[in-house]
Amino acid sequence: MSDPVFVTGASGFIARHVLLDLLRRGYRLRGSVRSLDRAEHVRASLSRHLGEEVGADRLDFRQLDLGSDAGWTQAMEGCGALIHMASPVPLAQPEDAEELIRPAREGTLRALNAARSSGIRRVVLTSSVAAISGNATKAREIHLDEGDWTDPATPGLTPYARSKTIAERAAWEVAEAHPELRLTTINPSFVFGPALDEDTGASLEVVERMMRGGDPAIPRVSFFVVDVRDVAALHVAALEDDRTVGQRIIAGSGQMWLRDIVAVLQAAYPHRRFPRWPAPDWLVRLLALKDRPLRFIVPQLGRKTLFDTGRGRALLGRDFIPPEDAVRAAAASLVEHGRI
Ligand code: NDP
Repeated sequence: MSDPVFVTGASGFIARHVLLDLLRRGYRLRGSVRSLDRAEHVRASLSRHLGEEVGADRLDFRQLDLGSDAGWTQAMEGCGALIHMASPVPLAQPEDAEELIRPAREGTLRALNAARSSGIRRVVLTSSVAAISGNATKAREIHLDEGDWTDPATPGLTPYARSKTIAERAAWEVAEAHPELRLTTINPSFVFGPALDEDTGASLEVVERMMRGGDPAIPRVSFFVVDVRDVAALHVAALEDDRTVGQRIIAGSGQMWLRDIVAVLQAAYPHRRFPRWPAPDWLVRLLALKDRPLRFIVPQLGRKTLFDTGRGRALLGRDFIPPEDAVRAAAASLVEHGRI
């Protein structure tokens, strides 16, 4: 593809890996950032990893906000494809869900409508397994695939999961009305793996928090984990393979209990202090009465959500990076970039 690929949210943890992969494959890129102040930092980080200067002829930037109409269509003019990744990824869930839902949904509509107006005919959207797995259930173990959808009206659903579900639904509605956009969604599970620099986003917070060792005990929660390098590879593979048009593709490697994550970290950093004891569910429930972030993990206690990842593996042509490696790589990058 000779026309540049447009990537929204170019400053993000996952987006930097996508930009790096695309640069390695010779693409020209245009990225959106909320503030152009961030642009040179992103360029410098990518240049460091590529081992050569990334000039404006290969990557340039536009300033766009998900919450504002200004500049979207002009920004995408001349581009051949869109990867829409920007969406609020909060460290803590807000009181008002609209703080996430509005920019996620309206930003998706702005991005897709601008793509249409500027003649783009290929779109890859970063959704999430949150748009697949949010429904209430009493089952201790559930198995889901790309055909499953979160009902955004599910009681107790996190504002983030609602925002991702509503935004992805909006994207498919646009794509149905305008099939020339040729949409694929990538639905990553919990993303670990290495950060390219010290901006680690909310994603590595769990690993960072465990490595800080301040928590007294480990709640019985589990994560379906994927390495950021595989998430990036899937975006690129989907972009290049038209057979993925119309598909959702789960990016996920395997399930880990939080205690397994801590055990991997403890083995890699034996001289650090980690939380050691399991937190009984009753205690988590009790603390959650006063602690808002904990309230959202109560429905997850003791529950395993497993995803069918066959479609993603077929597209990659290999297995996903094992979840334990993704945890170790995340930790190593936190240490390398001085976060821990
Ligand atoms: P980051 O927070 O690192 O990246 C989010 C990006 O969105 C940033 O570039 C951010 O810009 C941008 N953004 C947020 N709000 C706005 C706004 N109002 N206007 C313009 N840009 C905005 O998160 P990740 O890299 O982890 O996430 C990237 C995508 O992947 C998101 O769509 C997320 O939902 C999805 N995802 C992430 C998972 C994970 O575990 N990390 C799992 C599943 C899906 P700025 O740098 O200025 O804040």
